[in-house]
Amino acid sequence: MSDSLPPLDRYVRQMRYPPVGEEGQRRLLASRVLICGCGALGSVLANTLVRAGVGHLRLVDRDFLELSNLQRQVLYDEEDVAAGLPKAVAVEAKLRKINSQVQIEPIVADVDHTNIRALLDGVDLILDGTDNFETRFLLNDAALCFGIPWVFGGCVGAEGQSMTILPGETPCLQCLLHDAPPPGTTATCDTAGILGPIVNVIASIQACEALKILSGHREAINRTLLVVELWDTRVRQVHLDALRDATDRAACRRRSFPWLEGQRGSHTAVLCGRHAVQLSYPGRAALALDALARNLAPLGRVTYNRFLLRLEVDRYAITVFPDGRAIIGGTDDIAEARTAYAKYIGA
Ligand SMILES: [Zn+2]
Repeated sequence: MSDSLPPLDRYVRQMRYPPVGEEGQRRLLASRVLICGCGALGSVLANTLVRAGVGHLRLVDRDFLELSNLQRQVLYDEEDVAAGLPKAVAVEAKLRKINSQVQIEPIVADVDHTNIRALLDGVDLILDGTDNFETRFLLNDAALCFGIPWVFGGCVGAEGQSMTILPGETPCLQCLLHDAPPPGTTATCDTAGILGPIVNVIASIQACEALKILSGHREAINRTLLVVELWDTRVRQVHLDALRDATDRAACRRRSFPWLEGQRGSHTAVLCGRHAVQLSYPGRAALALDALARNLAPLGRVTYNRFLLRLEVDRYAITVFPDGRAIIGGTDDIAEARTAYAKYIGA
């Protein structure tokens, strides 16, 4: 054993579990994972994998914290909300305190077809902590195109689902759903609410799938769509093997990737659970937040740090990021959000 390797003592209980062992632990330490979304699922995923000694975590999230997140986003606290930090930045500080051996790489961004390739650079596995199908279909395309395993997870109300996708080996998300459901057609945590315990269950299932894959035990993965409902206490496993053979629409058979190529997907999104709309402007020149703050000060209440600027004006809370992306709080209407952005920030 080389002196340059970190000591393994802290993982002794995990290594004692025979399928992991020292060999599996070393594989975990050498692994690189993208966690897409640092909200409810992402908090549990990051917490679990950092403690397990997954060597490098790249964390990407587009949002900042609000008080109503704390009910289920277990890595954050009231001080983080008061600090007005993006989630990816707040979570980095927590994770470094938990395990200083692992590399944490926080990225404040919306995942889209323009940045997904860079986000996946060198990554062994993708974990889904997102809250929307548009991003999941992009992840599915990218995973299939580059041959990277990914683990889908989603929760609403007291129910959650998880599915593990090994490109070329198991059915993919498109085999299951064919297409992203149109906005407004599925229950969301806005309409149906969400209970904290189901998030912990689903994210823990996803995290265990990650440990299997990264420790070299692909044979042990869950090959079903797992559906867990905690209020009436039901667990279902939906077998998927027939799906991949039955459909010819699926990305994993046809090898076409419209989400990855930018033919599908938009730059606006109504944010689940937030009464807010995100507007993105890929390719726009970087905004100087300090100058913007001076310009906006006469209009309303302005606060800013180096990650974001927040303007409270009329009934809106407008948060602007240096890349020009904005989250317009106070509306679920995309057109109204665009109008507010144009009026206060500039088109
Ligand atoms: Zn497929």
